[in-house]
Amino acid sequence: MAMIQRTHFMDLHYAKELQFEPYNVRSLGSAVLTSIHNFDVLRLLARLPIKEVSFQSILVLNNKAAPSVDGAYDHGYIRVRMPRVPVAQGGLDDYGRNVGQHLTVSQLAPNHQEAVTRTLLHEVAHHIQAQVRDNPGLRNEFARLWSAACKRRQTVSEYALEGQTDYWSELVVAAIAEPRIRRLDPEGIAFVLRALPQL
Ligand SMILES: [Zn+2]
Repeated sequence: MAMIQRTHFMDLHYAKELQFEPYNVRSLGSAVLTSIHNFDVLRLLARLPIKEVSFQSILVLNNKAAPSVDGAYDHGYIRVRMPRVPVAQGGLDDYGRNVGQHLTVSQLAPNHQEAVTRTLLHEVAHHIQAQVRDNPGLRNEFARLWSAACKRRQTVSEYALEGQTDYWSELVVAAIAEPRIRRLDPEGIAFVLRALPQL
C-alpha cells in the first residue's frame, strides 16, 4: 500500500475505497488562482512573472499525523503540495486551527482551499521580496522590524521567526488574509501594507 501515493490518478482511483471527499485538483487549483486575483499582488506579478506554479496532490496513507499543506519557492518556480489523508485515518488536512495553536498563517485558514491559497500567497511573497531588498529605505526598515521581532520572539506566526524571508512572507499573508492576528505584530503588518504599493 505504501507505493500507491503521490499521484492524482490514485487519489481518484481509490477515492471510494478510502472514503475521500469528492476532490478535483484541477478545480481546486483554478479556485485558488481565482482567489489570488483579489489580492494586490497581481500588478506585481504582471511586472515580475512567475515561471511556473505547480499543485501537487499527495495521498497520505498509514500516517497518523495529518501533514500540512506546504509550498516551496525557487527562482520563479513555485510548488504547492496538498496532502490528503483518508477520512478513516482521522482527518483531511491541517487547517482550521485556533490563534495561538498555529505554526503558519495557512493553518488558521477555515478550509482546505483557503489553506492552499494562503500557501501560494506565501510563496508569491518570496517571489516579490527581491523588490524590498532593492529599495534601501524599505530594506533598512524591514531589517529593523526583523531584529525587533526576534528579540520579542513574537510575530504573526512561529514560522515567521524562521528567518527574514519567511518573516516577510508570513506578514504578507497575515496582512492580506488574516485580520485576527494582525495585532501580534502591528508594526510588521503596517510595514507590509505600506510597502506593497511601493514595490
Ligand atoms: Zn517560505
